[in-house]
Amino acid sequence: MALFRRLAHLFRSIGTETHQADALIFYLRCDRCGEVVPIRVNRRWDLLQELDDGVTGYSLHKDVLGAQCNALMRMLVLFDNTYTITRQEAEGGRFVSQAEYDAYRAGRGAPGD
Ligand SMILES: [Zn+2]
Repeated sequence: MALFRRLAHLFRSIGTETHQADALIFYLRCDRCGEVVPIRVNRRWDLLQELDDGVTGYSLHKDVLGAQCNALMRMLVLFDNTYTITRQEAEGGRFVSQAEYDAYRAGRGAPGD
């Protein structure tokens, strides 16, 4: 039981460490079908360090598959060492804003759609 309590405590502390600041979200619109896919990223786990005499920045590579078609989208985001985005590229889709994602979801849910 003592071990279980320690584990439970460990899981709780991992949970509280994952606070909002580490969470990033991107939206990609599929070139083929127009689906907008949200991509949730934790910068603590999902980013690769770019090393050159120390950490010069971070990069994020993700393959993204929507639910509507089987076209694969690929995204690449580069950050500097303060986690500021310096470059964003997508293949098979394009980055859209959260507003566009909300509009996409509202459109799909509209009566008569
Ligand atoms: Zn698609």
